[in-house]
Amino acid sequence: MNNSSNDTPAIDWTRDGDLESYVARALDDKQIPNCLWSDGALSIYGCPSSQEMVANHRQKSSAWMVPDRVIHRVPQALAGTSFVSCTEGEDCHVLDKERVHPFPDVHVHVHREGQPGYAVEFYKQSRLFWGLPPPPLGVPRSGDPFYMLVTDERLSEPAVLSRGRQPAGNHPVKILVPTHYTIGMALLALRDLEESMNRDHWLGVMKQLWFMIIDDENPILDSNSLTGVYHNIMYAFGDWLLSRQPDRVQRGHEYIYRVHHEWKAAGRLPPPDRGAFFWGPGGDVIPLAGDHFVLQ
Ligand SMILES: [Zn+2]
Repeated sequence: MNNSSNDTPAIDWTRDGDLESYVARALDDKQIPNCLWSDGALSIYGCPSSQEMVANHRQKSSAWMVPDRVIHRVPQALAGTSFVSCTEGEDCHVLDKERVHPFPDVHVHVHREGQPGYAVEFYKQSRLFWGLPPPPLGVPRSGDPFYMLVTDERLSEPAVLSRGRQPAGNHPVKILVPTHYTIGMALLALRDLEESMNRDHWLGVMKQLWFMIIDDENPILDSNSLTGVYHNIMYAFGDWLLSRQPDRVQRGHEYIYRVHHEWKAAGRLPPPDRGAFFWGPGGDVIPLAGDHFVLQ
């Protein structure tokens, strides 16, 4: 991969979707299944974007899920493209050290409009949506219950605060069907409820998803989209995090912690992903790498 920014050709794109299409095509061409997630996917679902994203009119990064067995091939798949392999690893000066978002397994950078630093981040599927089948290559089959395209007719039109359905014409980019994205986020919030720096991040995502559920103008996810225990879990998160009635807050909080402990004990949840950095005793920041966590 070319590490000299002076030699790096500019990607011909002006929209987030163009860059995402570029990434998806590079990975599809090398038979690496991939799926967009995180802020990009949420905005495409119709979730209101963060104030920072609105102010910048752009995302600062994009995040992708790739099956564990092929994620090591991602840097090679992007070699010779406009992406610059990051040589700084966990010391990367672009990725925010204070953030509570999980640290990517692999990341590269691209120079955007002359500004260095846009990060393209790749995560092993086992860290995110461990119970789902891997994404298909290219276009999902008709009626795929798990994956859909960012151009899908079921998505809402773009709005001031959300990207919504993406323009057709680019290489196909996949996202999860919103119900499975929501279940996946609920499982991450349950997994990392204790002993993880990611906890507050996932709880913030649960709030974002609830704002989408109660948005009557966005039919892609509503209160009937989830059934069974996940319906109960989603409502408990809503009571805990968003209700103004103290008894509902307490009831939701108790339900979520009960499910967390029961499912942990039953082996239904993996160990917590502790986050990029963990505040150890005495306020020292202990850098972490995946599961190689040592409490000092
Ligand atoms: Zn970096």
